[in-house]
Amino acid sequence: MEPRVLALFPFLPEVSSYLKQNGVTLDTIITDPAYERARDLGIQRVMEAFLDKEVKEHPMVSDVDYLFEMLSYIVARMIVSSTADEMLIIHYSLAEAVSMHKRLVEQDMDFVHEVALSLDINASLETGENMRIHFTDYLKLSSKMRAKEWALVSQELDSGYLVLDKRRMCRLIQQSLENKISDELPLPVNDEIIETFRPTIENVKVEIEKKKEEFKKEGFGRISFVRLPPCMKIMLNALKGGENLPHVGRFALTAFLNTIGIDTEGILALYATSPDFNVNLARYQIEHITGKSSGVEYLPQSCHTMVSQGICFEPDSLCKKEWMTHPLSYYKIKGKPRDKDKGKDTGKDKKGENGKSQQDEKEGKNDTSDKDN
Ligand code: SF4
Repeated sequence: MEPRVLALFPFLPEVSSYLKQNGVTLDTIITDPAYERARDLGIQRVMEAFLDKEVKEHPMVSDVDYLFEMLSYIVARMIVSSTADEMLIIHYSLAEAVSMHKRLVEQDMDFVHEVALSLDINASLETGENMRIHFTDYLKLSSKMRAKEWALVSQELDSGYLVLDKRRMCRLIQQSLENKISDELPLPVNDEIIETFRPTIENVKVEIEKKKEEFKKEGFGRISFVRLPPCMKIMLNALKGGENLPHVGRFALTAFLNTIGIDTEGILALYATSPDFNVNLARYQIEHITGKSSGVEYLPQSCHTMVSQGICFEPDSLCKKEWMTHPLSYYKIKGKPRDKDKGKDTGKDKKGENGKSQQDEKEGKNDTSDKDN
């Protein structure tokens, strides 16, 4: 494969044999002064992905340019792994996948097919700009796409396979790359990598903290249990009903409740009916997650991580929107009036969707503002 193509699609498996042929090792990438530009491009790649939501194309004219662009992908993964921050992993994976998609749609179908195979999508070429894909792959990759055209019932199935045009195939490949990167990261990193990129890692962490602050400053409005996403509602009800929650569930719930503005005492009160409730241990765990004792305030996990941890319970139609990637987004969106409802007093706000909002508001603590509504 042409080095230029490998530079544009650096996740392809052919990149590793290209690097071997050119005598590039992990050590040279990290320490060789001749590779400093590749390291700089890797740093730039992470910052662009995180701040600008895209991986920009840089002018490339020589084999050295192509090589450094390939290496920038490897360096970027090292930096992202060194921070091991989930928010960064989500932003980075999405930016890589979206940017790859822009390049992929300009390629011919043979190449699109090669990329699909490299991402383990069971696909074969059909006549015209079409590809045949097994419905299990289709379901796995299209589960977040809610437009009617993606529904399995709208597809013509032939012995378990369906035929997609280039546009839709490229979109599925984008999803597959995003999943692959976010599943792979963070990779294990050694001290040498951390030392080499220490200033960058520190800078990235500062940017992440700024972003988290911005996210929190946007505010979540008055605390409302009606707006809780299904996962949090189910875990909270399980605790209140005296059931035990797995550690990952407690972690996610605590981080979520803290981010929407419930303080330690409020969270403790909600956990008090848990069968193994121990006030000192619970306080210690809450203060660790909320950063009071650890100095690191954890944000709740993304939907993707919640799914992989088995704690995405009963996702509803809002969860299934293509853009829904985080329980906090659910909470924010659920509180917003739809455009068509603006200016109307339907009475729904007072009662909530299930008529329980007055009760919910009694349960909520720190009920001081209502910015969202
Ligand atoms: S999709 Fe996200 S918000 Fe909805 S239940 Fe699953 S983890 Fe929660």
